[in-house]
Amino acid sequence: MKNEIEDKIEREESEPPGLAVKVSGHLRKLAKKSKEIEREFFKSEDEDLEDGYTDPLIEDEYEKVPGLIWKYPKRVLILMTKKCASYCRFCTRRRRVEEIKNSCLAKKQMEDICKFLETKSEISEVVVSGGDPLAEEKELIYFINQLKKIKSIKIIRIHTRVPVSNPDQISQKFYESIAKIKKQAVYVSVHFEHPDELTKKTIEVIRKLRQAGAIMLSQSVFLKGINDSFEILEELFTKLTFIGVRPYYLYRCDPVAGAKHFLVDFEKERQIATRLKAELSGIACPTYVIDAPRGSGKVPVALGFWGKCAKKLIDFEGKTIEFE
Ligand code: SF4
Repeated sequence: MKNEIEDKIEREESEPPGLAVKVSGHLRKLAKKSKEIEREFFKSEDEDLEDGYTDPLIEDEYEKVPGLIWKYPKRVLILMTKKCASYCRFCTRRRRVEEIKNSCLAKKQMEDICKFLETKSEISEVVVSGGDPLAEEKELIYFINQLKKIKSIKIIRIHTRVPVSNPDQISQKFYESIAKIKKQAVYVSVHFEHPDELTKKTIEVIRKLRQAGAIMLSQSVFLKGINDSFEILEELFTKLTFIGVRPYYLYRCDPVAGAKHFLVDFEKERQIATRLKAELSGIACPTYVIDAPRGSGKVPVALGFWGKCAKKLIDFEGKTIEFE
């Protein structure tokens, strides 16, 4: 008899790609009281899979070893798993995230990545992402224990949403494994979108990660109907700094197929970001960036302090890019 996972794979092979609905009990409870959290995680009729890009950041072209994306000279991105604790409807990697069997890198693949990194001494920073690597805690612990043995790696960065999407899922073992990393700086970047996500459980996870020695950062995306207001973002970033999380990046939503209804008017974003910069403490204000079209990397958006903003960017390789 086929199990549920096999049925799902079969369905995915015969139907157009679409992000599964997976929402933890923790978020379901929050969504009953917060329409913004409901909009973040529950499917709506606005999802249009025909409009937008499937891989807006062109990550797949930079995959050097299975799971390893090497685009910038000194750091690599590792897409460790396709799984997440819950799926965000606006996900840029919705082409990759899915609840399928064997979605996590196998131990052998992790070891191959480590062998590759050992031959590239210029790479000093590893960003472990997914999916959500903390959704596969046991595998993540194994992986970081391998990565920390590589002498040239000085920074291990973990990108996760589990502290928001299912805080109960994180075990003591994970905090202990972070605390045991002595030779690298460990950064944990948590994806936050709205102040309603800052529950007691989430704040407790942040406290434990800090206690284990992790340097805490946050990332957020401008999302229509969720956080496209100065007041909401000001509250979110202020509260994050109060609990020891440094707001790091605020992104413009990528024009990804199925998520374009989350795109906020660009000029509105710029005005909000300008006011945030003017009114927030420097340590509470993230850098507002656009992931430039077709894989040209993150570019900080010129804020209102310098007059008119041209819709032309110069990317990390010096190419001039125009965007909509
Ligand atoms: S947790 Fe991250 S990778 Fe997973 S669905 Fe949300 S945005 Fe995408």
